[in-house]
Amino acid sequence: MKKKNMLIGAMIGLLSAGMLSGCTMDTSRRAGQGYLGAAAAEEEEAEDPEKTGKEETEEIAEDDKTGLPENGDEEENDSGDTDQDGDDSDGDSDEDSDDGDSDSVPQTGIGRHIVIDPGHQEKANEGEEFIGPGAAKKKQKATVGSKGVVTETDEYELNLEIAFLLQEELEERGFEVILTRDTNDVDISNAERAQIANDIDPTAFIRIHADASSDPETSGIMTICQSEENPYNGYMFNESNRLSTCILDSTVEETGAKNLDVWWTDTMTGINWSTVPTCQIQVGYLSNAEDDTNLQDESYRRKIASGIAKGIDDYVTGNSGDTDDSDDA
Ligand SMILES: [Zn+2]
Repeated sequence: MKKKNMLIGAMIGLLSAGMLSGCTMDTSRRAGQGYLGAAAAEEEEAEDPEKTGKEETEEIAEDDKTGLPENGDEEENDSGDTDQDGDDSDGDSDEDSDDGDSDSVPQTGIGRHIVIDPGHQEKANEGEEFIGPGAAKKKQKATVGSKGVVTETDEYELNLEIAFLLQEELEERGFEVILTRDTNDVDISNAERAQIANDIDPTAFIRIHADASSDPETSGIMTICQSEENPYNGYMFNESNRLSTCILDSTVEETGAKNLDVWWTDTMTGINWSTVPTCQIQVGYLSNAEDDTNLQDESYRRKIASGIAKGIDDYVTGNSGDTDDSDDA
């Protein structure tokens, strides 16, 4: 049934994608390119052969499963929990409320929180967890992600670097930013990452990935969120889809990368457990030589970060204010 909807969505998407624009439209995007979406599917929770009827990602997912859950740094696991007391302590640490150096930057973030999840970690955790609240199915807790085909960059490392740049961009706009991790040596499952966001109840939960495709030609930017029929958090579809559309549009505009559309899927543990507006961005494909090379470039990474931040601006500006903090400026 999900697959069927996806196919229908894909057809509608192909027909309508060219005519629609503007991220403030709730349903301006359809999951237009499932075959490319499948390529992104392995990003976090790896193999799920039936997710879109494509199997191209599995081999990559298998390759990704290298590490063992031998990492004993459990204190990192607790870093999320420290935020539960209401004052997100680690979010404040880097913040120096710079009002001066951001003349032209809109202060859209005052009174708002953003949680950023840099995908993956240095060592996999092969334990399993349910893919959503009440789900029967389980997936691996955490994987290491992909690796640059040219540069051999580790995805978990790249995701973190982009997250830091995004944090800077957002703090300049007045947002309070919380990272699910600020080092690669952690052991935090996908569900736990979503829980960190849920506890903070931010304006948006942004998951950063740069996965591989088995097709080396696949290149570009895609954003991902749950479908309207998602049994775990479909009620958040409109917000997540609008957020994902805003971020897709602005990052494509900033970078000139190919637009791979918004992909709706209910297979991602880290999305399914989220109770807040969520966007997973596939910033490029490390299996593609050009994307991999571009993503090594500091100025290109900054364009990605700036594109995401502008997309969040657009989302917030077009939002009627039913997110957290109930502030209307
Ligand atoms: Zn990934």
